[in-house]
Amino acid sequence: MGATLWVLGSAGWMPRAGQETSCFLLEVADQLVMLDAGTGVANLDLAVEALRRHDRLSVLLSHYHLDHLVGLMYLKRFAEGKRVDVYGPGRPAYPKSTEDYVGDMLQGALYSGGSRGFAREVRYHDYGGQDFRVGDLPISVRPQSHSAPSFELRVGDLMTYATDTTFSAVAWEDCAPSRALLHECWQLGAGDPRHTSAKALVAGLPRERFGKVLLIHHNPSWDDGQRAEVERVAARGGIELAHDGMVISL
Ligand SMILES: [Zn+2]
Ligand SMILES: [Zn+2]
Repeated sequence: MGATLWVLGSAGWMPRAGQETSCFLLEVADQLVMLDAGTGVANLDLAVEALRRHDRLSVLLSHYHLDHLVGLMYLKRFAEGKRVDVYGPGRPAYPKSTEDYVGDMLQGALYSGGSRGFAREVRYHDYGGQDFRVGDLPISVRPQSHSAPSFELRVGDLMTYATDTTFSAVAWEDCAPSRALLHECWQLGAGDPRHTSAKALVAGLPRERFGKVLLIHHNPSWDDGQRAEVERVAARGGIELAHDGMVISL
């Protein structure tokens, strides 16, 4: 079963020129799945044909930090006639449900449409840290280490999405293979303990289990020199940097 992946937002924290925050779109058979809904939702113009083919969109959230969530309100432009199912960690991983957190963000005083105003029909689901299904697609869930509970999401054997996490080589020793791994990279070497460095990933990732490994959630503070250095270290491990607008056949 083939699939297509669009990189719509490859930055973390905040957008910068040409780089929106976390958002990825996956089309597989009759499913259209979005991984996180950062400002990269604004790049959905890049996948307009795929949007036309589906009247339903499933949005999978790794966690609720705003750089992964704020684009839900942009969906109105692209999904107004669609049904959108939003899957977030919710209870018991968090004290409140996904619907509550999105409702807080899209409360009436801040966004006139409210938490159900960005599509024809919006449904909220809590996966609670457990595996779940989107139609026929199995989604495997693993807890990660971050400043708030965040979860690695693996879509069948197609792709593994690991963002907003510390990298631990031990946790990857028995990981399941997939055709692509999208893994966050925030820094070249040791630094912010809530995030991953390129050096740790190159040293500890069982690279051979993945067809392609792309670095995502780039630190917007990188200057060109720092970015080039991360790219050079990653390339030594057979790893590439993702960029907005990248389209990958899986
Ligand atoms: Zn983030
Ligand atoms: Zn985060």
